[in-house]
Amino acid sequence: MHSDLIGKIAKARQYANEPERLSIEHLAATFTGSNNAHQVALDLGRWTCDCAAFRLHTTCAHVMAFQRIVAPSLDAAARAEVPLTMQSDLIGMIEKSRHYVHERERIRLHSLRVRFRGSNNDHMITLGDDQWACSCTSFRLHHTCAHIMALQRLWAAMLPAAALQPSRDAGELEMASLLH
Ligand SMILES: [Zn+2]
Ligand SMILES: [Zn+2]
Repeated sequence: MHSDLIGKIAKARQYANEPERLSIEHLAATFTGSNNAHQVALDLGRWTCDCAAFRLHTTCAHVMAFQRIVAPSLDAAARAEVPLTMQSDLIGMIEKSRHYVHERERIRLHSLRVRFRGSNNDHMITLGDDQWACSCTSFRLHHTCAHIMALQRLWAAMLPAAALQPSRDAGELEMASLLH
């Protein structure tokens, strides 16, 4: 069992450098902006944000920052930028989003549905209420898998602490590998 998990951890390290294997089908997050916290979501290739700028322009600094951060894991529709006319508030928005890209700790992902192109098959990973699930066999056996471990590495700065806890099996193993 443990040698199997060691393999998964090695695979997760490799997968974490291959974000193009991921395709985000749904996400919901709280984005702590300069003034207020906003709810950002992506569903079926469409972004939404509850901030005032989004209501006016159908995009905003929060969405633009998100698009840049997770760009390799978005389909064409979700990656498309809203064409902007160059008004001064829009220029400010773009400027702001550039800063946000480097401030991932502003983002807390609380709900995810991600398709993962594994070495053999596609798998569906979900996160909700700090609980992960994956459709692969290894998740059924170990309550974690290379796919979830890869996401935990890749998006560590944006995940709530509870979603970063390794499963008990994987936790012991990583600890053991650090000691040897
Ligand atoms: Zn916004
Ligand atoms: Zn999996």
